Amino acid sequence: MATLDAATWLDTWENSRGLPLALQPCALLAPLLAQGQMAAERLPLGQRDAGLLDLHSALFGPQLQATARCQCCGEQLELTLDCRELRQPPAQIAAELRLDWGGYQLCYRLPDSRDMVLLASAESEALARDLLLQRCIAQASRNGEALAVQDLPQALLEQLAVTMAAADPQAVTELALRCPACDAQWQELFDIGAFLMERLGHWAERQLDQVHVLAQAYGWSEAQILALSPARRACYLNRVLA
Ligand SMILES: [Zn+2]
Repeated sequence: MATLDAATWLDTWENSRGLPLALQPCALLAPLLAQGQMAAERLPLGQRDAGLLDLHSALFGPQLQATARCQCCGEQLELTLDCRELRQPPAQIAAELRLDWGGYQLCYRLPDSRDMVLLASAESEALARDLLLQRCIAQASRNGEALAVQDLPQALLEQLAVTMAAADPQAVTELALRCPACDAQWQELFDIGAFLMERLGHWAERQLDQVHVLAQAYGWSEAQILALSPARRACYLNRVLA
């Protein structure tokens, strides 16, 4: 693995599995950030996903194989994607964001992974949206007079959603797909966090398989086997499995 050693990534993968789903991808970025898991959970979603795309490139290379299913005819599509092409230009995000619209002033921040944990338990999409806005809007006023979030007009909230999306474009990665069997076209969301978690899970299973084989053959400890270079580990595996 390019950025950290195998033992550290195995620990990271193991620790991430005890977290709520929405926080698991943050655990993959945590070892790379000075302030660890807390900083990763606080990243705006697009910045988090940009980091995960770069991490995929560093660990497994920029290309990835994904699948999608046609909603019209059920055909399975095999997709070859490139992390560099999915990557949006880096967004410059100010610490404090403001929106002035129709006499209203909002101070807000962009949604992060902790927001997503709470949203996952909301009973409806409307409740989830209200909850998200309440968490992200720090201050609201009209002509200098403070307002509660629930008193803001719908059109302003819609404008805020558009403004948030434009400020953090990497937060949503949509693929334009066309079915080769029935020619249907649609937009499909791609979630690099879920994809990378699954890929790292397969990698971890392979590591553990190899540790199992070499430990049985040579009596080495897990730490000793993981510390071998990939090339040397492959040589011993070839000898055991020959
Ligand atoms: Zn189709």
